[in-house]
Amino acid sequence: MSADETRHAAPAVAAQRARGSALQSTLDFLDGTFGHGLAGRVIAALSRDDQTRIATVTPTDEVPYLLLVRLWDAAAAQLEAEQAAERATWAERAGEASIGSFGVQLYGGILRKPTPHEFLTQSISLFRLYYQPGDMTVVEEEATRTVLRLVGFDPVTRAFCRRQTGGLHRAITLAGGQAAQVEHVRCLLEGDAFCEWELTWTGEAANGMPAVGAGAGPSP
Ligand SMILES: [Zn+2]
Repeated sequence: MSADETRHAAPAVAAQRARGSALQSTLDFLDGTFGHGLAGRVIAALSRDDQTRIATVTPTDEVPYLLLVRLWDAAAAQLEAEQAAERATWAERAGEASIGSFGVQLYGGILRKPTPHEFLTQSISLFRLYYQPGDMTVVEEEATRTVLRLVGFDPVTRAFCRRQTGGLHRAITLAGGQAAQVEHVRCLLEGDAFCEWELTWTGEAANGMPAVGAGAGPSP
């Protein structure tokens, strides 16, 4: 009945995996946005084992998803203590930055699609390059609106959901979607059956060229 019960009913969270780039881009974002030293203070709050793993991780490594959860929770706690005003949107901004930096470098073929629909309906989803198991599937599709549903993966923390909100916004913009908006309309962590994101945009780039680097943030 409660959100906690829903979470604990999900299978094998401990087996969920994530890409090392999600971890590294989080650390880069913390230092790049809030000043050097913040990432170090966040890491210092983790266990010795986690610190050792983080020190050697590469962008293409697979790491336990729960390691990312511990890092995100430590970042949220540190930001709460240091910069309450920044905390409100840090996870969304970190997700956008992740897609705009490592994402474009590693997975440009996935991201550089001529239209949002081609990006959303391609056979390999961006989600599956970053996380295992599960997928992000299209459950509603209209001309300039789509609903995506997360299946087979327990987000555990709202930081995951908020990163997806920011990352999807950047990805749709890269695929030429104009005035893109992303809303996390249903959430497993709030008792809904699934996490779902509603993506809307007003039109697509007139020349059919992907708007690489045209997002809200700095170019990679
Ligand atoms: Zn959610």
